[in-house]
Amino acid sequence: MMQKIAIMGAMPEEIAPILEIIGEYKSTEYAGNIYYEATYKGCEIVVAYSKIGKVFSTLTAATMIEHFACTTLLFSGVAGGINPSLKIGDLIVATKLSQHDLDITAFGHPMGYVPGGSVFIDTSKELISIAKTVASELEKTLKEGVIATGDQFVHNETIKENIVKHFNADALEMEGGSVAVVCDALNIPFFILRAISDTADTDASFSFDEFMESSAVISAEFVMKMVDKIIE
Ligand code: SAH
Repeated sequence: MMQKIAIMGAMPEEIAPILEIIGEYKSTEYAGNIYYEATYKGCEIVVAYSKIGKVFSTLTAATMIEHFACTTLLFSGVAGGINPSLKIGDLIVATKLSQHDLDITAFGHPMGYVPGGSVFIDTSKELISIAKTVASELEKTLKEGVIATGDQFVHNETIKENIVKHFNADALEMEGGSVAVVCDALNIPFFILRAISDTADTDASFSFDEFMESSAVISAEFVMKMVDKIIE
């Protein structure tokens, strides 16, 4: 079957470098968003930014799969680093993701769990293995780790420590965990890549403003190398 690759970001800055590399595309307005369709090196691609947070990213991921018929999803963006080995601009790919703000612990359930769901959702091992090949070819360090997602820009040590306590997370952001739910339910191989923009501490908003754009470019360029490898 021919592949159709969805490439998603949350913010305009996260997909701008991707659209630049693709060059020519058709813009379609659908469900309150713009979807950019292109044929890139003979492969069909759909690019979109969802807007920030779990709800908007759920809508966009589901739309790319159900309406635009994408068969693989790659997410590119920025994240707050938790693991101290992660510095600004470093790349991390999620091995599994959780929703750190999903809390019905009042009923004895673990954080991030609701009946019928699971605390973690695994990403595609095949896509991670392609990413490792790309990283070694580019001589770039690619960290694999747990990403925790929630509807909150974290800029606080205590909240950070809590997320580590519950999920042993290496990085956190606001969309990956919900995209994971959609792709897992619809059986779509997916990949969540993030470049670090801040370290989710009290300086996070300043660091984010300074480094978001450069980190978004680092992630986007890596994802496009992934696309090259996938369609090779
Ligand atoms: N400055 C933006 C808001 C950015 S929200 C504005 O004013 O519009 C942060 C975005 O980057 C989210 O899409 C999230 O996925 C990611 N992110 C980066 N660092 C983060 C952090 N410390 N906590 C949560 N999300 C973070």
